[in-house]
Amino acid sequence: MKTYDYIAIGGGSGGVATARRAAEYGARALVVEANRLGGTCVNVGCVPKKVMWYAAGIAQAMRDAAGYGFSVGDTRFDWNTLKSRRDAYIARLNGIYANMLEKAGVDVVRGFARFVDARTIEVNGERFSAPHIVIATGGRPLVPDIPGAELGIDSDGFFALEQQPRRVAVVGGGYIAVELAGVFNALGSEVNMLVRGPHLLRPFDALLREELMAQMQEDGVRLNFATEVRSVARGADGTLRVACSSGKALEVDALVWATGRRANTDALDLAAAGLTADAHGVIATDAFQNTVVPGIYAIGDITGRAELTPVAIAAGRRLAARLFLNQADSKLDYDTIPTVIFSHPPIGTVGLTEDEARARLTAVKVYTTRFTGMYHALTEHRPKTAMKLVCAGAEERIVGAHVIGEGADEMLQGFAVAVKMGARKADFDDTIAIHPTSAEEFVTMR
Ligand code: FAD
Ligand code: NDP
Repeated sequence: MKTYDYIAIGGGSGGVATARRAAEYGARALVVEANRLGGTCVNVGCVPKKVMWYAAGIAQAMRDAAGYGFSVGDTRFDWNTLKSRRDAYIARLNGIYANMLEKAGVDVVRGFARFVDARTIEVNGERFSAPHIVIATGGRPLVPDIPGAELGIDSDGFFALEQQPRRVAVVGGGYIAVELAGVFNALGSEVNMLVRGPHLLRPFDALLREELMAQMQEDGVRLNFATEVRSVARGADGTLRVACSSGKALEVDALVWATGRRANTDALDLAAAGLTADAHGVIATDAFQNTVVPGIYAIGDITGRAELTPVAIAAGRRLAARLFLNQADSKLDYDTIPTVIFSHPPIGTVGLTEDEARARLTAVKVYTTRFTGMYHALTEHRPKTAMKLVCAGAEERIVGAHVIGEGADEMLQGFAVAVKMGARKADFDDTIAIHPTSAEEFVTMR
């Protein structure tokens, strides 16, 4: 049996980050990865998604070009060329991850880990032990159990598509659904979104939801609310026939399930280590990422909190500092986590929604603005930018900042610093605007 100071089960965002930091602090660290290094984010998440989002942006820019005096000739888009180039980029990143770990002195074992006891795991019949084991096994797409569900694809299947489907149904109304629907639509597929609730992006501020719905509809995405899929069947010509609760029947070339994810904890043999997971596969942790078993920790998506790459990384790094740098108080503050949805147009949001603030705080005051960004002054396609600042208390502390529109993705990071530091509306007012930008509206709202 090989022994280490620290074992990370899972070589995704969290596992790689925590093991590298631990090694930097002198620990003998091991990462066990069953699939490709980099995990969800690098292989079937943030990275390939952002490549597709850029491609969609180029398609939109070509459409906008006429407004700026360009005559764009016959353009053609080849999905398969983009996919090959994207796959090659990701293969390069997989190599970079392997090199990074090697340089950091972290051992990597390829295979699926299971617990033998609270200090020992088994991979391909070989045993490894450590006084500290962190579980960072991420999640996988969840597909509803209905007749013909297997005829659809999930987000992993989206990234495997070799050709662009002409007609697509996207089921769900969360992050992944709006991002993938936006990409398909901008690249020319005919898109129907099938959403069980009354709107997209249920947990987000109403301004973002309303604006996104209006703009997606204007861009040609068909939004079907209060609609659940009852069954999927394949016709002789390969067409998928989708029967919905509303009575609606659709014919599409591809159906994408974007109906949430489940933590990868079912096959870990948690019981052997004295651990359990809840009905969603989530492992409970305290503020320090401790599980109920001393010496076993959990980070990232399997903890069921803010399923975002930087969150998994930050939790892992802080845990490594606590365990191997004697920083007893090192832990991640899960409050006020900024996030961007790479929809069309993109959304940036940090802090409380207006509804949350009104339910929890006093003297809530809200500032909003809606305008056409200057880039669109000359284009035929004229999506709006909308912003909201949610303030609370006599000092008008900013507890939420929300934006949808061109550039929102790059705009929010700096404002998130200000919100995290406890900025007041007066601090925003005191900040000189940068002109001409859309971001300047954040400091000029009245
Ligand atoms: P993962 O990155 O999923 O890594 C877990 C790893 O563990 C995997 O490589 C898996 O193979 C391995 N594993 C599982 N079980 C075992 C086992 N028993 N033994 C060995 N290895 C095992 N987040 C953002 O911040 N921005 C984005 O733009 C963004 N876009 C996304 C788009 C999509 C389509 C998806 C699905 C997710 C996106 N996310 C995004 C979320 C982000 O990918 C995750 O929050 C992040 O990857 C979580 O990191 P993790 O370390 O918890 O797990
Ligand atoms: P989300 O929780 O965002 O959305 C899931 C969607 O599926 C919701 O609209 C939900 O509806 C719907 N749904 C769930 N079950 C069913 C069902 N049985 N039938 C129909 N609809 C259903 O999850 P995602 O999978 O989109 O994303 C997972 C996480 O990954 C996100 O929460 C986010 O943390 C991360 N992510 C981050 C991204 C980024 O940073 N840009 C991009 C992509 C993912 P309802 O609202 O009614 O519950």
